[in-house]
Amino acid sequence: MKSNKNIAVFIDRDGTVSEEVGYLRNIAHLKLIKGSADAVRLLNERGLKTAVVTNQSGVARGYFTEEFIHKTHERLKTLLSEYNAFLDGIYYCPHHTEVGNEEYRKNCNCRKPNPGMIETAAEELNIDIKKSYVVGDKVSDVQLAHNVGAKGILVLTGYGKGEVEYFRNNGNKKPDYIANDLYDAVQWILKDIKK
Ligand SMILES: [Mg+2]
Repeated sequence: MKSNKNIAVFIDRDGTVSEEVGYLRNIAHLKLIKGSADAVRLLNERGLKTAVVTNQSGVARGYFTEEFIHKTHERLKTLLSEYNAFLDGIYYCPHHTEVGNEEYRKNCNCRKPNPGMIETAAEELNIDIKKSYVVGDKVSDVQLAHNVGAKGILVLTGYGKGEVEYFRNNGNKKPDYIANDLYDAVQWILKDIKK
């Protein structure tokens, strides 16, 4: 029986869809990585749900507010719309386990590689997590994928090149694919889905 649930591609923000600039504190510094808007549009055209999942502990650290994150995400949507690309959802975690005030310092279930953001998205967007994908530039993105039973793709943009070593040197489960960038990752996903 064919599932009526959606396949999703969960995309990390900083270093994956937009340039990694440290903790982004100025909206003017939000820049799309080349090809990433085209990649999102390809997913839109194929009917895959596309959602950003991003750790933003800069809130817990006091670098910026949640209001700033909302503004940043409005800007992100505008930049993508210039390429006719859109996101079905944007999920962020403002917490950190060790820093911040009472509101933000906690062992939350949403900070990647914990599954909270994907669990929320799966409910809101009717997603079959096990058939879905996570794309990101950090070990925690790949771990998130494997924690929820999805496939994990490491991109070599952002921190990605440095993270490759981690998988080489220990027994952790490796990425299902290592992509040059988000566009390359999406090409791989679209082929993988056909199998
Ligand atoms: Mg990142």
